[in-house]
Amino acid sequence: MKTCSRCGIAQPFTNFYRHSRTRDGRQSHCKDCDRKRYREDPERRAQVKASKRRRHLEDSAAMQAQCRRWVAANPERWREIGRLGKQRQRAADPERARETSRLASRKRRALAPRGA
Ligand SMILES: [Zn+2]
Repeated sequence: MKTCSRCGIAQPFTNFYRHSRTRDGRQSHCKDCDRKRYREDPERRAQVKASKRRRHLEDSAAMQAQCRRWVAANPERWREIGRLGKQRQRAADPERARETSRLASRKRRALAPRGA
C-alpha cells in the first residue's frame, strides 16, 4: 500500500502510475488524482498533446534520415535486401508475384517511346 500525496488515501501500488525516477518506481500521487488533474487542466492537456506530436515527428524524421544515410553508405546491401524481399514475396505467393511483375512490365511498355 502507498499513500497518495494529493488525496491522502492509502491505495495499492497498482493505483499509482509507474515512474522511473522515484525510489519505489511509482508516482507520488494516485491514478485518480493524475487523471483529475489532467482533466481539469486544458493547458497541460494541450502541452502533452503537442509534445507527443512533436516527438513523433522528430522521431520519424530522424529515422528517415538515418535510413537514407544507411542506404547511401550501403547501396549494394540495399539492393540485396530488395532482391531478397522480392524472392520472399514470390515464395509466399507466386500467383500474386507474377501478377505484380506483369503489371510492372506493362507499365514499362506503356512508358516506353512508341516504335522503340
Ligand atoms: Zn490521490
